[in-house]
Amino acid sequence: MASENIFEINTEDFEKIKNQEGPYILDFYSDECAPCESLAPKYQEMADLFGDKVKFYKIFRQQNRDLAKKMGVSSSPTVVFYNNGKETGSRLIGGIKKKDLLTNISTLLPGDEFKNRISKKKPQVKEADVLILGGGPAGMSAGIYAAQAKLKTIMVDPELTGGQVKTTHLISNYAGTGKAVNGYELMDLMLTQTKEAGAEVIAAVDITELKVSENGGLHTLILDNGDMTIHAKSLIITTGAQPRLTGAPGEKENRGLGISYCATCDGKYYDGKEIIVIGGGNSAVEESLFLTRFATKIHMIQNLETLTANKTAIDHLLKNEKISVSYNTVVKEFTRLEDGRMKLLVSNVKTNEESTLETDGVFVFIGMMPNVEVLPNSLKKDNWGYLVTNDDMETNLPGVYAAGDVRSKKIRQAATAVGDGAIAGILVEKYVEQFDARVKGNH
Ligand SMILES: Cc1cc2nc3c(=O)[nH]c(=O)nc-3n(C[C@H](O)[C@H](O)[C@H](O)COP(=O)(O)OP(=O)(O)OC[C@H]3O[C@@H](n4cnc5c(N)ncnc54)[C@H](O)[C@@H]3O)c2cc1C
Repeated sequence: MASENIFEINTEDFEKIKNQEGPYILDFYSDECAPCESLAPKYQEMADLFGDKVKFYKIFRQQNRDLAKKMGVSSSPTVVFYNNGKETGSRLIGGIKKKDLLTNISTLLPGDEFKNRISKKKPQVKEADVLILGGGPAGMSAGIYAAQAKLKTIMVDPELTGGQVKTTHLISNYAGTGKAVNGYELMDLMLTQTKEAGAEVIAAVDITELKVSENGGLHTLILDNGDMTIHAKSLIITTGAQPRLTGAPGEKENRGLGISYCATCDGKYYDGKEIIVIGGGNSAVEESLFLTRFATKIHMIQNLETLTANKTAIDHLLKNEKISVSYNTVVKEFTRLEDGRMKLLVSNVKTNEESTLETDGVFVFIGMMPNVEVLPNSLKKDNWGYLVTNDDMETNLPGVYAAGDVRSKKIRQAATAVGDGAIAGILVEKYVEQFDARVKGNH
């Protein structure tokens, strides 16, 4: 649809229109901004749907810095809603979903007007050779290979793409970067490469339903309550995993800022420092032993009466003079101190006695969870819920591949995810060829 429904304005123009009657929306955007690119088609769709009732504006933030600063806009994209010259609704930033735009627009229009427009919305239907679920390193790598093989490739992520890597400050063990690089920047490069290869990337959407064919038929993904349906000949699942959190207040806010979930990645930042490890199973014990290469002192906090790792690992750990353990203890709160150290409020589950501990950093190893909620039970999983594949990344269902951290395997790193993705992205080509031949043969 026409893009004339969106008006590009600058600070001077804004001064003239800011007190206008009726509703209008302002999108502060930047260039080289992945979340802005993800918002653009949604903003356009809203403008095409509501443009005769609500004015849609865009302001290039980098060239209108003073205005952005005056309005307290510090990140791109930021979408601000106005009615009769007054800001209304809630500002939207980052990975903006269509439903967030609609919720705000619904407050700008009389009820019936909004409903009538919504009913005119035409659902979009797309077809793909390869549908990739998940935009982390595994998905990007699979996308690059599949798209370069000229397969119609669509990658979908409910969040902004980049996966776990984008949340890590520095990544120093990914070959080819020359030096330690920022995780977000590395994933931005992967995204550019994936798009340049020809893959379509759809990010910050709601996954409404996934129908996975069990007999080699088309797979169907429904997004944003039916606004978009994708039919695909093959499916590569790269939905990754996420560390299990303790759930204590202050944890989410300090993730990557004193609380880490990866010893291989972040251990080196604690050379000569003291740390606390939360957990007492195999990964907590093994990762604590690994962390003794860096830390001078490690205090473990285990909620149970004993450690639950294998006996050999526990024996090793208990002999290590750098490591001490508090049993029957849970963390109730994390606080970041002004000097960057962490303070933990802990409680003994037997006596309810509370105390505080201070440390240079915290590592949480209480397990990882594969992101498999939307996947059908017909996909074979291991005891921990990870997808079982063969060496070719094939799951038990025809035309369904899994790659990266969501896969049942020993080592979960960016490099191994990219390797898995490459295998799936290459081998899917043969499957699509056979799919096409089968369909042709049936006609
Ligand atoms: C803090 C931290 C630091 C790390 N540091 C390093 C390091 O230094 N070096 C290293 O090699 N590795 C590091 N890792 C591990 C590395 O990030 C992972 O191994 C890697 O990201 C796995 O890639 P992936 O593509 O399989 O999954 P993820 O990176 O987990 O990406 C999965 C993607 O799928 C999306 N998704 C989830 N559910 C769905 C769904 N239903 N449909 C569609 N998409 C979905 C997610 O939003 C996400 O974008 C670190 C991990 C963490 C948490």
